[in-house]
Amino acid sequence: MRLSEITNAVEPSLTRQLFNMAKQYNDVIDLTLGDPDIIPNEKIRKAASEAIVNGQTRYSANAGLIEVRNEVAALFSKEYGINVQGNENVIMTVGGMEGLYLAIASIVNPGDEIIIHAPYYVNYVQMIKMCGGVPVIIETSEENKFAFSIQDVVNAISEKTVAIVLNTPSNPTGQLLSSELLDDIARLAIEKDLYVISDEVYRTLIFEGKHDSVITREGMIERTIVVDSFSKRFAMTGYRIGYSVGPTEWIESMVKMQENVAACAPLPSQYAAIAAIKECSEDTSLCEIFKERTQIFASQINENEDGYIHCLPPVATFYLFINIEKTGLNSLDFAYKLLEEEHIAVAPGISYGKAYDKYVRVACTLDKEILSKAAVKINRFVKGITK
Ligand code: PLP
Repeated sequence: MRLSEITNAVEPSLTRQLFNMAKQYNDVIDLTLGDPDIIPNEKIRKAASEAIVNGQTRYSANAGLIEVRNEVAALFSKEYGINVQGNENVIMTVGGMEGLYLAIASIVNPGDEIIIHAPYYVNYVQMIKMCGGVPVIIETSEENKFAFSIQDVVNAISEKTVAIVLNTPSNPTGQLLSSELLDDIARLAIEKDLYVISDEVYRTLIFEGKHDSVITREGMIERTIVVDSFSKRFAMTGYRIGYSVGPTEWIESMVKMQENVAACAPLPSQYAAIAAIKECSEDTSLCEIFKERTQIFASQINENEDGYIHCLPPVATFYLFINIEKTGLNSLDFAYKLLEEEHIAVAPGISYGKAYDKYVRVACTLDKEILSKAAVKINRFVKGITK
């Protein structure tokens, strides 16, 4: 079959590959996807099921119900301290992912470059390619806690650069971008006339430090889309509901694209989103759960006898990016062997950028007892391959 060049350029995700391979074992501990075992608050589930039972299951406006957009705008205005309007600055999307796609599709012409910092959420690269753009990667290293400098951004800019994608807190590293860097990026974006897409879907899962966003800097509301989601904050991954906030013209363009991509976000999920904001936005229990899980897992990994693997102490999200360099295995071989021998599925670091083949990512999406068992098995596996 003659498939499009764009389709051929898009690479299947190795994380998904490991997730699919994990299915062959009944006793597998699957730590691949960022999809926690937690079910949403009952009020959220009730709102979704009542919407279905009551027949609130038709299309909504492409941008989403005005009621939910107004709720999002009020929440965003309160949490970010900047005033945005539901009918102008907000679009409801099919998860944060569709927000990212629509935001990119609205600003990229063929050959345009978009800067992303690595290790990165792999879908950025694919989405940029799907829109005919070219991803330009800023590499970072563990020694600097995966931070980058403003000079790195300056070096990545060419006359084809149209935007930079920021991700804070980051998947897969769990680290935050510093406020100083965000100040500098804002100044640079204004000076060079660049747009910013700021992916902040983990902003409520921070254990140390505070969330900060580039959109709060002067002049940035005019050139920034913040992508957010109900998936991680409210454990609503399968509801496929998210939102983006940004300048009116950019949002209008995303709404125009939305009509041709998904028509609208699922209506029952929009009602569930209203309940989530109204009833659960003060609830910090998920953050506490992930803090405990990541801390337990990280301390067990970092206490492994011979120091063959280690990770940074967790500060946000539910991911740990584990350095496996001393085992002598690359990330795919490590992940395949670990699955085969111990029935534990992790994501190979190479999926998050070429320079990260000495890492694997663990998503602490299961109960702490299971995670603890997984850490014991990983340490046993590492001992076996290094003796
Ligand atoms: N952004 C990042 C960094 C993610 O890790 C994810 C999901 O894992 C998303 C966006 C999109 O999530 P969703 O489409 O479920 O909102």
